[in-house]
Amino acid sequence: MPNPVFSSLPTSIFQHMTVLALKHDAINLGQGFPDQDGPISLREVAARQLIDGPNQYPPSKGLLVLRQAVAAHGAKFYGLDYDPEDEVLITSGGTEAITGALMAMAGVGDEVVMIEPTYDSYRPMAEAAGAVVKAIQLGPPHWRLTEQALRAVITPKTKAILINSPHNPAGRVFSREELDVLTRVVTGTNIVVICDEVYEHLVFDGRAYIPLASLQGMRERVLRIGSAGKIFSLTGWKVGWVTGPRELVSVVTKAHQFLTFTTSPALQLGVAHGLTHEMDFTLALTARLQKNRDVLSAGLSKLGFEVQPCEGTYFLTAGITKLTNEKDFAFCERLIREAGVALIPLSSFFQSGTPDTFVRFAFCKQQYLIEQSLDRLNTYFAKT
Ligand code: PMP
Repeated sequence: MPNPVFSSLPTSIFQHMTVLALKHDAINLGQGFPDQDGPISLREVAARQLIDGPNQYPPSKGLLVLRQAVAAHGAKFYGLDYDPEDEVLITSGGTEAITGALMAMAGVGDEVVMIEPTYDSYRPMAEAAGAVVKAIQLGPPHWRLTEQALRAVITPKTKAILINSPHNPAGRVFSREELDVLTRVVTGTNIVVICDEVYEHLVFDGRAYIPLASLQGMRERVLRIGSAGKIFSLTGWKVGWVTGPRELVSVVTKAHQFLTFTTSPALQLGVAHGLTHEMDFTLALTARLQKNRDVLSAGLSKLGFEVQPCEGTYFLTAGITKLTNEKDFAFCERLIREAGVALIPLSSFFQSGTPDTFVRFAFCKQQYLIEQSLDRLNTYFAKT
């Protein structure tokens, strides 16, 4: 009998909506990947390395030059201090970093707290490790994390809390007050907080991003996860990392050695170059995304979508009850077929399927595509 954690999973919602989008020639604002590749200089460095070699296994914990660049990046942007020698681990994307961190922190019967809506890999990977997931549900419009909700799911068996900020799909950036709540709840326990911060730079309206690890007393219990895919619009590269105290990173390193062992040396060198020389690209990307968010929000509001605040990431959420009596899934399928625009139903980010009257738009696309999508929706809703 195959493992039910995986055999019982439905086809991913992204695959389902993308297949349908292709069939109906719809603009895909469903899947969250940019439609323009990041800086040429990273690709040139990687290409040169592919040609010149060596192309053999790099060290399992990552090339030193990239570990140094990741440590320097944390120091430059947030004043975080990690030793590149044994407090930085390079992984094959943020996804592998999250899986490694979960496997390293929680085993059979241990509890892991997750905050729904969640990125789709979290729950199955924790459950595959034998851990029990305890979920807190955040809800629109504020998607706010409260002390009461957190305390309600913490037990003596809780080994880790997995949080994601900036948050996909809610577009939230957890506030200083919410980070203080987390700090209060875990202080005095042995709970480790795994912080999925892959969208750390994609934060809007001049907001400063505060990593939980930078708060007093938190460095020693936080595993901070980053992704070059998001920082440099190179999502197909799957280069990520974990930083944290050596006592914790050393255990994630052991999980990583059997998950993937290592990551392409060419791509690692490209990313090391990017973190050192191309952060201006990321700042410009954030400005472009903010503009897209504004164009999309304004257009959707006019159409009757209940647009939710979006503080960061690639994603905007909106309520649909003024437009339809359908559930989110049926509404998304209809828009693909009849309006030619693909979105993602928000219920797919919750285990229990609620709330089911919200949709997610990915706006990490060129502005003309956002405008074309709005035109299509305008034409469609004018007819119906
Ligand atoms: N976490 C979140 C919240 C994400 O949205 C994504 C990518 N969609 C990842 C992790 C994965 O990052 P990577 O592509 O580097 O594996």
